[in-house]
Order: sequence, then C-alpha cells, then structure tokens
Amino acid sequence: MDAKKDTIKANLEGIMAALPKDVTLLAATKTVSPEYINYAASLGLRLMGENRVNELLEKYDAIDKSKLDIHFIGALQSNKVKYIIDKVSMIHSVDRLSLAEEISRRALAIGKVMPVLVEVNIGKEESKSGVMPEDVLEFVRKISALKGISVEGLMAIPPKSENKEKNIEFLQKIKQIFIDISTKNVDNVNMRILSVGMSNDWREAIECGSNMVRIGSGIFGKRDYGIPPQEN
Ligand SMILES: *Cc1c(COP(=O)(O)O)cnc(C)c1O
Repeated sequence: MDAKKDTIKANLEGIMAALPKDVTLLAATKTVSPEYINYAASLGLRLMGENRVNELLEKYDAIDKSKLDIHFIGALQSNKVKYIIDKVSMIHSVDRLSLAEEISRRALAIGKVMPVLVEVNIGKEESKSGVMPEDVLEFVRKISALKGISVEGLMAIPPKSENKEKNIEFLQKIKQIFIDISTKNVDNVNMRILSVGMSNDWREAIECGSNMVRIGSGIFGKRDYGIPPQEN
C-alpha cells in the first residue's frame, strides 16, 4: 500500500471528472519520480510538463512514453534546446527571439517543426520571464517567420495573489491578448492553446477561457525539493 498513490488517484480522478472536455490537463511533474508519473498515466493522464532540462533527461528513459506526451514548461536556456528537441512535443516558454531561433534551427535539423507557446509576463513582474503584454503581437509576428517552429498559443503564470479578483483580472487580460492575436490572423500562427491555470486557480482560469491547465501539487501533493533546484 502506498499512501501517496492513493492521494494521486483521488486528486487526479477529481480533476479529470471536473475538467470540461475541451480543456487539456497537463501534470506539472517537477520533483515527481517516474514511478508516480507512470502511475498517474495508468489512471488516464496523457500529458506531463517538465521545468528543468537536467531533470527531464534524468527521468526520460523511465517515463511511459506510450501513454504520455511531454511538454517543456520551464525557463529554457538556448544552449540546452538541443537536449530536448527530440523529446518534447511542445515548448511553453518561448520569450525571446534568440530562443525561438535556436528551437527552429534544432527542429529543422531533425526534420521537424516544434509547436511553441509564447510566454507572457502578464503581471509585468521584474523577477519573471515572459514577453511584456504590449509586445506580444509584435513578437509573435517576428517569430512566425521561423520555419522550424509553429506558434500555437500563449502561456502565462499570473502573479501570486491572495486576492481572487486581482487574479481574475490577470486571467481575463491574458485571454484578451489571446483573442486580439487570434483575430489578427498572422501567417503561420494558429492560436489554439491558452496555457494558464495551476493548482490554486485552474477553475477560475477555465472560466476565463484557458484550455490547458498545468497542475502539479494539486495532483501529486506538496513538492519535496530535497536539494535546492539547480540552474534553469
Ligand atoms: C510548478 C509549475 C506548475 C504547477 O504548479 P502547482 O502550483 O504545483 O500546480 C505550473 N506551471 C509551471 C510553469 C510550473 O513550474
């Protein structure tokens, strides 16, 4: 008997039952061992997201890829793109031209086109990565010319807030940017994914138009980092 598995089962089944059909669940699996990730897959999970290149590489062989797609959701250094380009089916964290160019170059080199999301710094926080809200359209236009990526939507991590109304303002703001860009019909851009909503706000995010929620502790329980997280 594994109490952690019981927790994962109860959490995951609750979330899957509550999710509208058109919303995709991504399990944020940082610090979670392949054993538990594969257990979640055995219960119906089909998509996971990793934050750190090194951690993804360590887990990769043990993950049940017959059931799970892997997305990259963390800050990404250009010099590490080469390690993940053949392992992930989407990168959520494109926030600068040099990174988009490197992803495109590495994807073309292995004969593929990498789906990407543009990360938006929706709260304009200095400590956070992401393109500033007013610059997103221009950035999307710029990277849409790259042959090895396809822009498929936006990702955001709203500022931490105790205040639900404030949080909902940010969720509405990212949805508005998503709609604005969709209506511009930029060539080679298919705005179909809005990746926003985590353990503490996924219900509100869905109400505000998110169609991909990234849930970590809400599935696997509180994270145990052990040694502090390393670079990127
Ligand atoms: C950790 C993480 C999540 C999930 O956070 P929880 O609060 O545990 O649900 C979602 N997105 C990103 C980018 C993360 O790093």
